[in-house]
Amino acid sequence: MGSEPVDRYGVMGWPVSHSRSPLIHRLFALQTRQRLSYERFEVRPDRLETAIREFAEAGGKGLNITVPHKIRVISLVDQLSERASAAGAVNTLAFQATGIFGDNTDGAGLMCDLTKNLGLGLRNAAVLILGAGGATRGILGPLLGAQPRSVTIANRTLHRARELAERFSSCGAVSACRFEDVDASRKYALLINATSAGLKGESPPFPSQAVSRDTVCYDLSYGSTPTPFSQWATRQGAKHSVAGWGMLVEQAAESFHLWRGVRPDTAPVLRQISITA
Ligand code: NAP
Repeated sequence: MGSEPVDRYGVMGWPVSHSRSPLIHRLFALQTRQRLSYERFEVRPDRLETAIREFAEAGGKGLNITVPHKIRVISLVDQLSERASAAGAVNTLAFQATGIFGDNTDGAGLMCDLTKNLGLGLRNAAVLILGAGGATRGILGPLLGAQPRSVTIANRTLHRARELAERFSSCGAVSACRFEDVDASRKYALLINATSAGLKGESPPFPSQAVSRDTVCYDLSYGSTPTPFSQWATRQGAKHSVAGWGMLVEQAAESFHLWRGVRPDTAPVLRQISITA
């Protein structure tokens, strides 16, 4: 009985050794009494298609897709959820009888952490996002859905930020600029770091003019010690600096629900991974 094969899941990224998704999904599985395995796969961009195909052919049931593959993977799916299609980025694959289904749970995960876990209201707030990659694509639609006064995307490569601002222009007041051109006269209620700079040990010239004492500084990245962005935000005088653990757990719960049809309780898992971080 114990030797029955278990359903296989995993996360593909590059790098991915830092990922806590295996622990989170193991805790969800224990809590909801689901038999499954969840592994990390370090996959270089030029091997993504082959790695996904091999995983599916070996009977794999689902994957999380992380940095830097979220945009590229779109071309490999057969069917997209509405939110993944709006984002133009995928972080969850489900291998179904009808083909590969692609979803994006990042936005739902972030919004759940901001509003439910942290109690932050975004209506009429000015929001600044640093970075214009796959993660920003996933969170923009849900953020704009909360009716902030404005969302500014600042990115090292201006044309990527502009492309995203245009893509989402029908959803609200969204604009694009470089880090050095961030409007200092605006009081940002929320500053989100959605760059992967910290992952690579890099410290970009983030716009210090955007931070006031009351700006909530939220880093999508997370670590066992304060992230470089969190340290920077604290140095700028921000009272609230938050790492992306809550988003990580909430977006994982959305993926788990898609795969297994069961919604885990995230609060105990968030407490546990914060302790073991
Ligand atoms: P991505 O698609 O590779 O995009 C990376 C972004 O970071 C781009 O905007 C890039 O700017 C910017 N960037 C990279 N290095 C930089 C540097 N040295 N200086 C300035 N900008 C730099 O990655 P992603 O999928 O969006 O992920 C971004 C981050 O969010 C990662 O750290 C990821 O782990 C984290 N994340 C966390 C969660 C969570 O649940 N907590 C969920 C999703 C993502 P250019 O356009 O100029 O290259």
